[in-house]
Amino acid sequence: MKQIQNYPHIVMNAKSTQKIPCHRIVIKLGTSLLTGGTDKLDMDVMSDLAHQVAEIHEQGFEVLIVTSGAVAAGRSKLGLTREQTKKHNGIPFKQVMASVGQGILMHIYEELFSRHGITVAQALLTRADLTNREGYLNARGTLLALLEMRVLSIANENDVVAVEELHGARFGDNDNLSAMVANLVDADLLLILSDIAGLYTVDPHHDPEARLIPEVKRIDRKIEELVTGTTGNLGTGGMVTKIEAAKLATASGVGVLITDGRLPDVITRIAAGERLGTYFTPKKSKMESRERWMVSGLSTKGKVVVDSGCARALKKSKGSLLAVGIVDVDGKFERGDVVDVYGPEGNRCASGLTNYSAADIAKIKGAKSNGIAGVLGHDYGTEVIHRNNLVVL
Ligand code: GLU
Repeated sequence: MKQIQNYPHIVMNAKSTQKIPCHRIVIKLGTSLLTGGTDKLDMDVMSDLAHQVAEIHEQGFEVLIVTSGAVAAGRSKLGLTREQTKKHNGIPFKQVMASVGQGILMHIYEELFSRHGITVAQALLTRADLTNREGYLNARGTLLALLEMRVLSIANENDVVAVEELHGARFGDNDNLSAMVANLVDADLLLILSDIAGLYTVDPHHDPEARLIPEVKRIDRKIEELVTGTTGNLGTGGMVTKIEAAKLATASGVGVLITDGRLPDVITRIAAGERLGTYFTPKKSKMESRERWMVSGLSTKGKVVVDSGCARALKKSKGSLLAVGIVDVDGKFERGDVVDVYGPEGNRCASGLTNYSAADIAKIKGAKSNGIAGVLGHDYGTEVIHRNNLVVL
């Protein structure tokens, strides 16, 4: 892990005592937390977490849970250890364990929450179900209706049908799924609870000087590089997927807090305003549903790269994207598709619905607006992305 110091996008002083907005909160519970690092679900841990969730639910907070643990529950039901399942490393076997375990997992939640008089709902989602706008709106409608009825939604990836081989069909990890759920319901906060205390200045496993970063104002390349060399768990549930999730959620206007779920009363303390772990500030305060869908990446078909002047102008004047500022185009997309707009440093600066296909943009990039018809023989207006169809991040 690389060292990070004197960096403008992180806040190291503990003065950031400002209360984190969290009225509508998505809580992600990871496998290592729910199993206490063992081979099976830890009832004491789960009951304590359920107790805390019930407490804030009672206080009027709007809570949704994204849970892992189906694979772990299935594995232990089948009488297998992690070691033994390593030889069945393929996805189908994971699907078998998840399908055995999902019912068990829900049964436990049902039982734990009924003690507090809370009704739970199971929401099994896959990425493929949400990529078309209709699917996205249906899932959103259901989750919002459940919130309205004060039913506690408990989401997991539908591992049984989410096949890895279908590219882009699955989230693959519950960090990214939880960011999508937070995006869907327009949460104030995504609380990622695991056995990691947050983001450190340097790898805490190797450097005693490592300090927890209390706040990250912007996730850019430098922050991402900080975790790509981490020696900790890099796979599903590692810091890399957490930062990916934080990127998606903060771009959608959702704050993200990553902290250690084993801290005593962690959920109730956060709801009461205590600052723990690492907080990632949302890029924009609130967005409309259509805007959140555009930045979700679910339907993104390609990208255009713009020069620094254009990136600045988009940010400052919130104008339309014109061909003259475009330096590159990537992907196969048609007019009407969602594309991402990247600045020259490789940071995404906007997303929107394009008026021109990738093939057309390759021809008109760098051209003045009045030159478009001359190059293409037709034009769909002077804007490549009209400002009404553009979300600047
Ligand atoms: N969906 C998996 C499970 O329920 C967990 C995936 C993850 O934790 O990222 O076991």
